[in-house]
Amino acid sequence: MPSLNEMKTVFSLLESTHPETMLEELGHYPVHQMLIMTLLSARAKDSTVIPIVKEFFKKHPTIQEVADLPIEYLEKAFFKCGFYRMKSKHVKLLCQKLLDEFNGTVPDTLEELTSLPGVGRKTANCILAYAFGKPAIAVDIHVHRIANRLGWISTKNEKESEFALMDLVPKDQWINVNRLLVGHGQSICAPRKPDCDSCNITEHCKYGREKNV
Ligand code: SF4
Repeated sequence: MPSLNEMKTVFSLLESTHPETMLEELGHYPVHQMLIMTLLSARAKDSTVIPIVKEFFKKHPTIQEVADLPIEYLEKAFFKCGFYRMKSKHVKLLCQKLLDEFNGTVPDTLEELTSLPGVGRKTANCILAYAFGKPAIAVDIHVHRIANRLGWISTKNEKESEFALMDLVPKDQWINVNRLLVGHGQSICAPRKPDCDSCNITEHCKYGREKNV
């Protein structure tokens, strides 16, 4: 288990190389737009989703407008995001539910957020952390994989990782887990072939150290 200093060192090293995530770049967008873009970004690259949502929200900025759009229109707009049929359906239902049950605002609790169509724990935690500034750890495949490779945790799935990381990492550092590990996973620490030779945290990583023995 890493010490607090060790974790802070890793975060500080990653800070110097990490590419800005979509939710950082578009963190000034209204909360419902951040929620929709997070939903669209599931299993899609930020670089694909960013131009699509920028264009889309210029034309359709409000929840009501998105809810009123025909599903075929949404499917066309979100085609390049992958899983576009399911994502379009969720976006429409989500906006309708926000209007019908939440007075047209995005709720700020995990329980309420995960009651929305297409919103799982990862998306909900992203919104809590990035849009509402609340302590939350959004665990996706990158966070799960890298935290295990580092040797910080030993878990089987993303949900287990979320709880293990909440136990391990101090609350004021929770935002860094997603913010820094996701970018590292997308650029260096790939699922199949992590580029440990180019990685700046190799000496702090169990997998990287063992590979170099
Ligand atoms: S040393 Fe390798 S496995 Fe560890 S974080 Fe870096 S790229 Fe990933």
